[in-house]
Amino acid sequence: MKENLKKHRILTGVAASSGIAVGRALFINRASGGSFSTEIIHPKHFVREEKRLERAVADQACEFENAETKVRGMSQEQSDLLEAYSMICRDPKLMELARKAIRQDRLPAGLAWEKAVRSVLKSFEKIDVPYLRERAEDVKSVGSRVAARLRGRKAEPSPALGCRVIMAHDLTPADTLALAPENILALATEMGGQTSHTGILARGQRLPCVVGVTGLEEAARDGAMVIVDGIRGLVIVNPMPDELAAYQKKQELLNLFEARLRQEAHLPAKTEDGCRVRVYGNIETTNDALRIRDLGGEGIGLYRTEFGYLSRLDLPTEEELYADYTRIVRGMAPDRVVLRTLDIGADKSLAGIPKLEESNPVLGLRSIRLSLYCPDLLRSQCRAILRAATHGNAALMFPMVSGLRELRQAKGIIEEARRELLERGEPCAENLPVGVMIELPSSVFLAPALAKEADFFSIGSNDLIQYILGVDRENKYVSYLYQPLHSAVLEAVRQVVEAARQAGIRVSVCGEMASDPFCLPLLMAMGIDEFSVTPQAIPILKYLIRRLNMPELRKLLAQVYDKVSTETTRRLMEKYMNGRFSQELQFINLGAKEDA
Ligand code: PEP
Ligand code: MG
Repeated sequence: MKENLKKHRILTGVAASSGIAVGRALFINRASGGSFSTEIIHPKHFVREEKRLERAVADQACEFENAETKVRGMSQEQSDLLEAYSMICRDPKLMELARKAIRQDRLPAGLAWEKAVRSVLKSFEKIDVPYLRERAEDVKSVGSRVAARLRGRKAEPSPALGCRVIMAHDLTPADTLALAPENILALATEMGGQTSHTGILARGQRLPCVVGVTGLEEAARDGAMVIVDGIRGLVIVNPMPDELAAYQKKQELLNLFEARLRQEAHLPAKTEDGCRVRVYGNIETTNDALRIRDLGGEGIGLYRTEFGYLSRLDLPTEEELYADYTRIVRGMAPDRVVLRTLDIGADKSLAGIPKLEESNPVLGLRSIRLSLYCPDLLRSQCRAILRAATHGNAALMFPMVSGLRELRQAKGIIEEARRELLERGEPCAENLPVGVMIELPSSVFLAPALAKEADFFSIGSNDLIQYILGVDRENKYVSYLYQPLHSAVLEAVRQVVEAARQAGIRVSVCGEMASDPFCLPLLMAMGIDEFSVTPQAIPILKYLIRRLNMPELRKLLAQVYDKVSTETTRRLMEKYMNGRFSQELQFINLGAKEDA
């Protein structure tokens, strides 16, 4: 049995916060379990149960609100999260549902509260957006903390720790905040995905973190030596002596590398031979925008505005959108903010818009097609963007444009929005640049025509690869076919750059391909001059760019054009980048590695 406990295990998960930690495991369990009385209550106890409910909710909300003063060095993200927690806690809808359950179903406060939480969670179930599925987790975790109070339990106390690697089935932000960061080396959880809050919090505290680690609970015992590799998404339990030594060395080198990245983050993205490109950030919420500058980003190349619609149960008003966009545009001025209009599919339904039955939603009424199907929705968003653009340097971009007709129709809606604003006497941007996302094969073929009517192009490589290769970007069974270095993909990029150059417009890449170190040299050689990437990738991307040189990259590209096999191209790129950045590549998250 003892032998078994010391078993060497390599577990894989999702690398949620970069870094490496070596230390002893401490498994913490969440407050859970216990049961409420199932008894039906007498009407004379309605008021008593309502009072218990109100007290539990108010106390829990206060705990979230006061946490900020207790945790030193809390990041903006963490405090935003706590604010969101307290808002969920105080949400009148939840309270109304719980009160109804007390009075109509005659349930005691605890059961009534749980019923209310379940019914809110049901509305999240149909939403197929990872970010929002994680938000359902927030409702769950707030719900369970209030429920624990109604069971008469106090929130879990902060365990007395030496320096430890904290492991758990799942960690709510409230759990994480209850731990003193100076005692934690890293976090690892069985549950969670790339966008889970454990990862967000860990990044805020600069703690290595791996989430979604299958088998963690079974393999990790308190006190076991563990390595958390937040770069490759690995947790090694009871490592071998040579593994331990190698990781300790790697950790030292990583610290030096990160210090170097921080020093250089604000230097221009200019190659060794002086070719200047721009590096922007992709954001999903207003809060993400705050980090872009600190990380050395030169603006926002893609604001996925749909998140402002999806995170609510009704449609946002023009005023709400205007306030949101203005905050970002003003905050980033004079740097550019590219606002992409609503990009949702029929699988991600919006409250306020009837859900359609579609057998192929990815090929259905999504993106710009949906916006044109609901022109009032697009017009309202365009009005908000035109107004916000008066406060700084903004541009608008349409997703998934398939051809000229769609582009003209969409631009027509901008003009209608502008007329409406003028009639209302509202200030609006006169020369709002309008860009087209190149995400469909048809837009690649039509790039020369589209370039004449667009102010810029942005290649959405995530979708472009999906549609060129006919590979569902979310389907793990065909993910081996999803190849950014496929010659058809590279040829598409080449054609788009050529069309943009002929028309004298700029072209960026804003999909994941832009931050793939094996694609970056080829994109640069083809003439891509703007990259928009996930915020954490900005410093490393600038670091790599500053060490590349264009004549060498062009030679590399010529060699790639000679190859037809994706494998040969991949090997060539790996050889080149490993030769140039042998040290650095070990610190870059290169995506899930099957053989890791
Ligand atoms: C893309 O498709 O590359 C893109 C940036 O858009 P999204 O990932 O939001 O579809
Ligand atoms: Mg896309």
